[in-house]
Amino acid sequence: MKLLRYGLGNETYTGILTGDEIMRLGVEHIAELMGADPAFVETGIIDKLADARVLAPLQPGKILAIGRNYAEHARELGNEAPAEPLVFAVMPSAVIGDGAVIEWEAHMTAQVDWEGELAVIIGATARKVSPDVALDTVFGYTIANDVSARDLQARDKQWTRAKGLDTFCPLGPVIVTADEIPDPQKLRIVTTVDGVEKQHGSTADMIFDVRTLIAHLSRAFTLHPGDIILTGTPAGVGKGQSPPQFLTDGSVVSVEIEGIGKLTNSCRVL
Ligand code: MG
Repeated sequence: MKLLRYGLGNETYTGILTGDEIMRLGVEHIAELMGADPAFVETGIIDKLADARVLAPLQPGKILAIGRNYAEHARELGNEAPAEPLVFAVMPSAVIGDGAVIEWEAHMTAQVDWEGELAVIIGATARKVSPDVALDTVFGYTIANDVSARDLQARDKQWTRAKGLDTFCPLGPVIVTADEIPDPQKLRIVTTVDGVEKQHGSTADMIFDVRTLIAHLSRAFTLHPGDIILTGTPAGVGKGQSPPQFLTDGSVVSVEIEGIGKLTNSCRVL
């Protein structure tokens, strides 16, 4: 099932997307569907996707992100592959939806980079879960772009500003429920910038797979329904190109993951 949140006129709705039609649901937030059967809240009203403004599918509680989780990507930026997951946090206030604009002030950063990633949506409270049952806590999957200001990342020594600026966490367009993706480790992931392919990877190449990440994170933090895990990016980021390339005013960046869809955002320099 593909779930989305969308605007129509002045109203905001949630719905189930099938083809180009949306079955409107009687809940305001997708998080309300966790642990429930969406069939019970179908309103019978059908909206056209073409009429809808797609919004970020949910406002996450916390966003836990993993750095250098693909060996080729670690290598392209001159880093060792980590011996255990490299965990950082992204500000929930950075989230925007499909079609929204990634924007930044020119004096803040001049090295804005893309990172297409599989995002895991937690659907159940999880604390110290073992890897073999970790996927039972997953509500679904979506696409993220872990937009990164490389100059701030280098200068700050840690990543809170570089990856947490407002608009730097595009998410969506839909959440695909976990029953439709029984194995999250075999999904093709492709990032394009202005129509040119930059990243082409597979989630099979994660160093630490989704079940290992959930187990690892849940030893440190209680995971709650609505929390999100960004699972790292494959090779092909802008900083790894020769010469390095970065997003500029008017750039259009798309991240596509097999079985989920395509997340597209344009860029604006303020
Ligand atoms: Mg990342």
